[in-house]
Amino acid sequence: METLPIFMKVRNRPCLVIGGGDVASRKVNLLQKAGARVTVVAPELHPVLEALLADGQIRHLATTFEPACLEGAAVVIAATDDEEVNRAVSLAAQARNIPVNVVDAPELCTFIVPSIVDRSPLLVAVSSGGAAPVLARMLRTRIETMIPASYGRLAAFAAEFREAVKRRFSNGQQRRIFWEDVFHGAIGEQVLSGQEPAARHAMAQVLAGSGELNHGEVYLVGGGPGDPDLLTFRALRLMQQVDVCVYDKLVSKEVMELVRRDAELIYVGKSRDQHTLPQEDINHLLVRLAKEGKRVLRLKGGDPFIFGRGGEEIETLMENNVPFQVVPGVTAANGVSSYAGIPLTHRDYAQSCLFTTGHLKDGTVNLDWAALVRPKQTVVIYMGLVGLPEICRQLIAHGAEQGLPIAIVQQGTTQRQRVVAGTLATLPGQVENAGLRAPCLIIVGEVVRLREKLAWFEPSPGAV
Ligand code: SAH
Repeated sequence: METLPIFMKVRNRPCLVIGGGDVASRKVNLLQKAGARVTVVAPELHPVLEALLADGQIRHLATTFEPACLEGAAVVIAATDDEEVNRAVSLAAQARNIPVNVVDAPELCTFIVPSIVDRSPLLVAVSSGGAAPVLARMLRTRIETMIPASYGRLAAFAAEFREAVKRRFSNGQQRRIFWEDVFHGAIGEQVLSGQEPAARHAMAQVLAGSGELNHGEVYLVGGGPGDPDLLTFRALRLMQQVDVCVYDKLVSKEVMELVRRDAELIYVGKSRDQHTLPQEDINHLLVRLAKEGKRVLRLKGGDPFIFGRGGEEIETLMENNVPFQVVPGVTAANGVSSYAGIPLTHRDYAQSCLFTTGHLKDGTVNLDWAALVRPKQTVVIYMGLVGLPEICRQLIAHGAEQGLPIAIVQQGTTQRQRVVAGTLATLPGQVENAGLRAPCLIIVGEVVRLREKLAWFEPSPGAV
């Protein structure tokens, strides 16, 4: 190791930044985040620093650097563009044993400022010892995506209970196991999803010996329209830590690949008119699995609250006091339209956008047609493949132009995506021979014309 990694306390201590430009202002910002009292030494100040000065947040010595400026400083950072000044700062600081960093000059530094991932109170620091700062920053970015933004809250939560846990478990190993269970289990998840009050309550109960540490819970997760890259960070994290996954037909096989390998998979898929498991039974299955103490992933295509019956499922969970969280997903309208090159709104063509379903519970297509044929509006129809001829006929009968553009997209965002575009008059005929396979999304409106210009995604030929 070229350097010793340490984290230094500078709260309420005087720290010095030499230089008043934009690099200096970033260093000031960093020192302030750590609570330092910052003095800037520079003849002139960058507007950002001027503003901090006016606000009373920093002190300013409007001079060029002199060794006397260093008096009492806990740390000094030189960020001027004058090599001579930077060198003078470094030598003077070293002579007084004050830790010094000179931006972009590792040979003049006695400490290095690492790239950081800030989940305060949790901090990750990455350093290449000055050898390859860009590489360190790239690594930092990767770590940034791996650590949920709310990890800091989890650390702060743990701090609240540290003493109480110590009292409860005097044995260090028991304590470690306890904390691992908290962080991996339901309580940790509650904190990460912003449900601290519930987590505090559960923690207090567990510590009082009257609650279960790892009771089951349900994650109702939107798996997006198919391309696994469209999953949210939270969806992916939960998918990788569950005991059982209840999924249906709409979830793409690429997304299913990312569910934890050891998880039990339960298919409750539905295709039109052929319900593998009635919704009621699915609702109760989720309750039963959670009551067995399992972490249950209820994985849905798209977004759980858009034609996903997510509302019905969590109603049953609530009635049965099963803890849950809902993770939104990219709904088909968003994902599929983007990948098909059809913007849902556009200043020239559509100021509003309506999502509707083309398939009703009783199998009919009985929509508010008058509302669907308004001008300057895009209509997205879910579950409309079978009803397509009827949909086109009704739209025309209610005043839409025969030539109004309409597209149908099969398995959008996946390698099996196919787009068939035409007009209200022509599309049913085009689709009859196209052999499209579910799921298919219909988009109606002038915006469909833009596809010719904007389409960017091309699935590889022959992909299955
Ligand atoms: N909750 C889902 C929708 C469920 S309804 C969501 O938010 O996307 C099922 C319908 O969604 C399908 O009939 C189809 O119209 C549409 N759909 C979902 N994924 C799709 C995809 N990848 N390509 C085309 N249509 C899709």
